[in-house]
Amino acid sequence: MMRKIQMVDLRTQYEAIRQEVNAEMQEVLDTATYVKGGKVVQFQQHLQDYLGVKHVIPVANGTDALQIALMSLGLVPGDEVITPTFTFAATVEVVALLGLKPVMVDVDYDTFTLSMESLRKSITPKTKAIIPVHLYGQNAYMDGVLQIAKEYGLYVVEDACQSIGTNYYFADGTIGRSGCMGHIGCTSFFPSKNLGCYGDGGALFTNDDELAAKITAIANHGMSVRYHHDVIGVNSRLDSLQAAVLDVKLKYLDTYLQRRQQAAAYYDAQLAGNPNIVLPARANYSDHTFHQYTVKLIGVDRNKVQQKLAEQDVPAMIYYPIPLHMQKAYYSPRYSQGDFPVAESLAQTVLSLPMHTELDEEQLNYITSRLLEVVHL
Ligand SMILES: *Cc1c(COP(=O)(O)O)cnc(C)c1O
Repeated sequence: MMRKIQMVDLRTQYEAIRQEVNAEMQEVLDTATYVKGGKVVQFQQHLQDYLGVKHVIPVANGTDALQIALMSLGLVPGDEVITPTFTFAATVEVVALLGLKPVMVDVDYDTFTLSMESLRKSITPKTKAIIPVHLYGQNAYMDGVLQIAKEYGLYVVEDACQSIGTNYYFADGTIGRSGCMGHIGCTSFFPSKNLGCYGDGGALFTNDDELAAKITAIANHGMSVRYHHDVIGVNSRLDSLQAAVLDVKLKYLDTYLQRRQQAAAYYDAQLAGNPNIVLPARANYSDHTFHQYTVKLIGVDRNKVQQKLAEQDVPAMIYYPIPLHMQKAYYSPRYSQGDFPVAESLAQTVLSLPMHTELDEEQLNYITSRLLEVVHL
C-alpha cells in the first residue's frame, strides 16, 4: 500500500537514521551537558567546515538569528531595512520589533526573490540594510544585491532559513554558499527545513570576526566576559539534544538535498506542458534545493484545486497567501493594494506540492496524476 502523502514526512526520515540519532541523544543524556555542551561545539565546527564559513553561531531559532543579526549592526530606530514583501513574516517582524523601519519591495515573477528594480527604487538616505530571502531554496540574485549594497554602503543580512547548502554561481566564476555571501546569514533548523532538528534551532553565519564576537555576546545576554554586560542582549541558544540530531543529519544533508532535487525533477517532467501550471524557474546563477516545490496555477481556481487535491489525500499548501505589506500587523499608509503587483499576484496563484526527502515514485506519480486531473476544473 502507498505510504500516506504528507507535505513533510519526518517520521520516515527518522526511521532511516534512528540508531545513530538515538545513540547521539543518549550520549547527551548520559553526560548531562544540555546547554553549551560538546555536541553544540562539535556541530558548530562541522557546519563551519561544510559551509566553508569562518563563524557559525548557533541560536534558538531562525527568527532569533535574524533579530540578533540586526542587533549586531548598530542600527538606530528609524533606520530603514529593505525586505521582500513575499516571505514568511519573521523576516519583517524582527525589523519592526527593533524599532527599525521595514521597507518592503516586490519580488521577481520567475524566481520569487527580490526584484532588483524594486530594490533600487526603495533606497533612501536612511536605508541601512537589505535582507534578501532565498525563498523556497533558491538564492536571490546576489550579484545584484551585493553590487547595490556596495554602491550605497549597506549591510546585507541573508535570510537563508529555507536554503542551507544551496550553491550560488557569481558572474566572476566564483561559487558562494547560501547565507555566507553577505555580512551575516541566518538559518533555521525548524523540523521541516532542509536541515531540521527535532524542535527549534537556528544559526548565524559570518566571515567577519568582529561581527561574530558581537553576535556571540548578544546571543548570550550581551556578555563577552561572564557577568559583564557590555551591550543589551538576549538569551538564545541551541541545546545539546538538538545539536546532536543536527550533527547526525548534517552528514546526510547533501543526500537530502539531492532527494529533494530528484523529486522536483520528477514533478517537472510530469507537469511540463500543462497550460495551467507554471513550473518553478531555475535561475542560472543559483542551484535550487527545493525547500518547497511551488507552482503557479493560471486560469484556474487555485483554492478549489487545493481542496480537490485534499479530497484525494494530496496535501498542498499556499506559501504565502497574503504579502506582508497587506498584513494587519505590517500595514502602513505608505502602502496600498497594487503597489507590489508581482507579490500580490503570486499570493493568488502559488501552490506548493508535497516536498521532502522520502517521496517515492509511486507517491510522486499519484500526486502529479491527481493534480493533472483536477487542474482543469
Ligand atoms: C522558517 C523561516 C524563518 C524563521 O525560522 P524559525 O526557526 O521558525 O524562527 C524565517 N524566515 C524564513 C524565510 C523562514 O522560512
